Amino acid sequence: MGRYRGPSCKICRRNGTKLFLKGSRCETAKCAIDKRNYPPGHRAVGFAKKLSEYGRRLREKQKLRFFYGVSESSIRSYFEKASTQKGITGHLLLAIFERRLDNVVFRAGLATSRKEARQLVRHGHFNLNGKPVNIPSIITIPGNVLSIRTGSATFFEPIIKKIGEHNFPAWLTVDTGTKEFKLSHTPAREEIDTPVEEQLIVEFYSR
Ligand code: SF4
Repeated sequence: MGRYRGPSCKICRRNGTKLFLKGSRCETAKCAIDKRNYPPGHRAVGFAKKLSEYGRRLREKQKLRFFYGVSESSIRSYFEKASTQKGITGHLLLAIFERRLDNVVFRAGLATSRKEARQLVRHGHFNLNGKPVNIPSIITIPGNVLSIRTGSATFFEPIIKKIGEHNFPAWLTVDTGTKEFKLSHTPAREEIDTPVEEQLIVEFYSR
């Protein structure tokens, strides 16, 4: 299954939660979840379809998929990777998503949404460890350094000016002098604010 290209707000309404897919709009009163928190196609608040166990697991998996904007095949391969590592599979899975290059760009405050971050990476605005990079799905590791390419410095100037006001996750440090962003450690579960119950996703793929 490929990437969903329909209206973003419908995904949030279908899943009954804010997935922050539209950047700054998500923080305003225009958010569709704040205005109409019921599934598309239904007319009233209070519609609550009781989900089966399978349905709950599927919903959590879909939330994770849409939150990071990845394809079904990617999420499955990340799960397989996480399940071969030592530790809690659900936490390891989320840590893989957090370390995707497009998510790192978003968390660094260089884009207003993961979708925008993906596009900026594809357009070649960044270096990873000093080398040009244009693949959003690269999984970064502790010690990796993200920086803005010289030719793109003007484009990011307004963002860099306000970088001190940005709320960085604990696993990402910024050097305001060199304008470099470093992954200090693998994100722990308590450092990831993704609104999913990861255990249900593990159960979904362990069927
Ligand atoms: Fe979801 Fe609200 Fe953002 Fe639309 S505006 S994508 S409903 S969080």
